Amino acid sequence: MAIHLHKGDLPDGLALGPVVAIDTETMGLDPRRDRLCVVQLSDGNGDAHLVQIAKGQTRAPNLERLLTDPAVLKLFHYGRFDIAMLKQAFGVTTAPVWCTKIASKLVRTFTDRHGLKYLLADLVGIDVSKQQQTSDWGAEELTEAQKDYAASDVLYLHKLKAELEVRLRREARVELAERLFAFLPTRAELDLLGWEDTNDIFLH
Ligand code: MN
Repeated sequence: MAIHLHKGDLPDGLALGPVVAIDTETMGLDPRRDRLCVVQLSDGNGDAHLVQIAKGQTRAPNLERLLTDPAVLKLFHYGRFDIAMLKQAFGVTTAPVWCTKIASKLVRTFTDRHGLKYLLADLVGIDVSKQQQTSDWGAEELTEAQKDYAASDVLYLHKLKAELEVRLRREARVELAERLFAFLPTRAELDLLGWEDTNDIFLH
């Protein structure tokens, strides 16, 4: 396993395959207030690429190309947040997407535990630390612990997706999941426009 650190954008010519796991680390949980600091990516084969985003940066051409490539599926855990963050940072709509949290909610209706740590422990048998979740991701130099944590959020998403797909097929919810994934970029856009949870557009 290797963690590759990049400043500002993915390197030219890097191919990450047809399904790319993506996560973001930010200054906070409000995409309209808090800036994007790190974008993590993995092709599922054990390596992670971390892209540090500078304050005020509004373009990352190689990353933007990947996010909008119709031939590359972007795999997230709670993609709603990351997709909104990436739209706010670079103005791009990330698609097509797949979300392990939505898939979990569709098939694991016996629990309300859909956090990544629980899913990896329950479905993949991997224990990841969440210790660095609330650290200062805007730092110029990331610590080794931050890099390991950031990488662990994307390294196992392909395995988790495979497990969730078995359960989606078993429960006959594959097609419903696909329609939710197709709507996810729109849901993220609504968040940015002010129709967030407390002002849900589907509420009466
Ligand atoms: Mn993360």
